[in-house]
Amino acid sequence: MIPNIQIAIDGPASSGKSTLAKQLAQDLDLIYIDTGAMYRAITLATIQSNTDLSSDRQVEELLESLNLTFRIDQGQQNIFLNGQKLDQELRSPQVNQAVSKVSANPLVREFLVKTQQDVAQSQSVIMDGRDIGTVVLPEADFKFFLTASPRVRAQRRYDENMEKGYSNQTLEEIEKEIIKRDHLDSTREISPLTKAKDAIEIDTSDLSIQELVAKIKLIIQDKN
Ligand code: C5P
Repeated sequence: MIPNIQIAIDGPASSGKSTLAKQLAQDLDLIYIDTGAMYRAITLATIQSNTDLSSDRQVEELLESLNLTFRIDQGQQNIFLNGQKLDQELRSPQVNQAVSKVSANPLVREFLVKTQQDVAQSQSVIMDGRDIGTVVLPEADFKFFLTASPRVRAQRRYDENMEKGYSNQTLEEIEKEIIKRDHLDSTREISPLTKAKDAIEIDTSDLSIQELVAKIKLIIQDKN
């Protein structure tokens, strides 16, 4: 195990971040933090409680009353809302459509960035998201920014949906949704999706996950 390292992985939707991060967490014995799942969990809570995002008071009330817990089991993150473990419901089309709006909310971001920084303080982590290298872990030892064409990313999400039964959206619907989410995530006022100046950009369009993992491990080993 490499002592106390922080690895930040950012990039647009379905660019391969979580598959890469899970594999590296396992191989390098790091804790994997999926920050997108955290924003998705709050989105679900917002939908369930009918919270009006334009009302700071309602958002504050939601965040204060939220019984949201994150537990790391065997290096993987599990999220519980009111005692119930969340999984498939975080990937529903309804959550996909609402998450960019919820995650643009300053109060939601403040709440989650603090949670993420607290987790990373005392242990070696690999964290994926949109603002990890720029805001959450600006001092991370390694920063990667993954990209891939919208069609390739839509195909990946489509295959995952088919395999796991998350939804039966068509490839075209998924591609449209991804392009819309990328646009909202990159143009929002607070912590937009952007490559940190010191991040290494990797286009994953033509890379298998094994090739990507091997490439990143080489970069990490070279520096240690
Ligand atoms: O990574 P994933 O696609 O699950 O992220 C879902 C959404 O959560 C993103 O589209 C973005 O709106 C938001 N997000 C964010 N900052 C992060 C991680 C995710 O704004 N660090």
